[in-house]
Amino acid sequence: MQVSKRLAAGASMPAPGENVLTNTQDAVHAALSRLGYSDTVFELLKEPIRVMTVRIPVRMDNGEVEVFTGYRAQHNDSVGPTKGGIRFHPNVTIEEVKALSIWMSIKCGIFDLPYGGAKGGIVCDPRSMSVHEQERLARGYVRAISQIVGPAKDIPAPDVYTNPQIMAWMYDEYSRIREYDSPNFITGKPLVLGGSKGREQATALGVCIAMREAAHTRNQEVNGLRVIIQGFGNVGSNTARILHEMGATIVGISDAAGAMYDESGLDIPTLLEERDSFGMVTPHYKDTISNEELLVKPCDVLIPAALENQITAENAPSIQASIVIEAANGPTTPAADEILKNRGVLLIPDVLANAGGVTVSYFEWVQNSQGWYWSEEEVNDRMEKMMVDSVQNILRTAKRYQVSTRLAAYMVGIRPFAEAMRWRGWV
Ligand code: GLU
Repeated sequence: MQVSKRLAAGASMPAPGENVLTNTQDAVHAALSRLGYSDTVFELLKEPIRVMTVRIPVRMDNGEVEVFTGYRAQHNDSVGPTKGGIRFHPNVTIEEVKALSIWMSIKCGIFDLPYGGAKGGIVCDPRSMSVHEQERLARGYVRAISQIVGPAKDIPAPDVYTNPQIMAWMYDEYSRIREYDSPNFITGKPLVLGGSKGREQATALGVCIAMREAAHTRNQEVNGLRVIIQGFGNVGSNTARILHEMGATIVGISDAAGAMYDESGLDIPTLLEERDSFGMVTPHYKDTISNEELLVKPCDVLIPAALENQITAENAPSIQASIVIEAANGPTTPAADEILKNRGVLLIPDVLANAGGVTVSYFEWVQNSQGWYWSEEEVNDRMEKMMVDSVQNILRTAKRYQVSTRLAAYMVGIRPFAEAMRWRGWV
């Protein structure tokens, strides 16, 4: 508990240029101005419409009660109910959760999903908690936020350090509170509880499709490209597996403790077998390097799949990749963005590259609501088509307006909210 408090306090004082909320607000402002919307529209979209802070008492295995802080931010519900994951991490802050909820809106807007964005977070370190403690925390969080969530209000999902098991407990708790079975309350559930085929690997598959499309614009094929992936959690490890199967050479990977690089390619099947449920694999090895060293090693494609603010003004000039695919949310600071753009690096922004996850979550919610389940092929084919169309749409928009791919993504993603709010008479 001491450690998580200290980490959380440290995280609330971001370095200059690394405040994810103000950076996001700047991007939303730039997109709305470029599209010609008024300042009133920005006023309503710069912050979530609703943010709940909760204190959750949890009886720990040693008999003592520990009190955790959690948040749920709902950015905008003009298009439909809100949607977004729940993060368990010691560095969670209210500002981060707010920014993540805005990013979710942009993703839903780009992919034309009938949702606004939301995000939840609990300040905790699940790596040092037992399974029973995690269960009590997950259930306590759902009880605390139950008033503002629901299948037609706000639909949670997994995010950093949360998984199908945690979704299952939350689904169970919510159904008990409501006294009827509510599988469409939450997505990312285990298959037997109404999860969607393809959901677990959806974000990674989307990332790989986005990478394939980006490579095609440079007349390159995935087969033979040298790829560095930062992070070996759900998204990083599945991305490594799929790209390996597609014939790419994964030259570098990392986890929270360190990184590994081998220019002739890492043994991905073995690393996948060795990783634990938190994506840790480097402790099995001696000759590891740091995450910072990994990012600037030789490669063709860099895929940050960990946390925010990893590519900064400091390391951006040394990054050797010519394509960056943002699998993580917010991995690049605005200053680094500018440097990469000036260096001619093709960047596929997070709100586009990692939206395969929420897209298949939408499919899961649709299947739960209909009680009619799709094959994995149907799920993957539908998501692939939406990803290909979205990548092409953003690249076309960037060209047409002569703006960065990120600004183009924000322009496409924010427009449905501005329009929906106008039709509803809010602005
Ligand atoms: N947490 C994921 C994201 O950041 C998925 C959200 C969802 O499936 O609703 O996009």
